[in-house]
Amino acid sequence: MKEKENCPKCYEIGEKVKNITVKHMVSENLRGKVVDEETYYLCMNEDCDVVYYNLNNERVFYKEEVKVPIWFKKNANPKYICYCNHVTEQQIINAVLDDGAKNIKDIIRLTGAMKNGKCEINNPLGKCCSPLIQETINKALNSKE
Ligand SMILES: [Zn+2]
Repeated sequence: MKEKENCPKCYEIGEKVKNITVKHMVSENLRGKVVDEETYYLCMNEDCDVVYYNLNNERVFYKEEVKVPIWFKKNANPKYICYCNHVTEQQIINAVLDDGAKNIKDIIRLTGAMKNGKCEINNPLGKCCSPLIQETINKALNSKE
């Protein structure tokens, strides 16, 4: 049988995430449904309300079954960039526009982002948010010109 890496709802190919990340992201009462050793994916389609699903689509977790809003999904509120310290996209933009932040170091100092990071269990992708912080800084800097 061919393995299905795509989202059961929108059919886009998701991003592979660690089992431990999914376990920490889904609501407490659903944690038991995340099967050990299984491969899970995060649906990256902003319009799709599926968040996690496993290979071959036997298990699916929707937006309302996950503890935090997924930043790139439509209507995510708040829109966290750094999930470890609950720093939002707006806070980063404000730090650039109002407080003159120019790089990640400034953002860390001004917002407390990336401190004591436990990205594997706090970030929906299970990855460090620093590339996304940089992207947000660039976006804010460009809007300034
Ligand atoms: Zn999807």
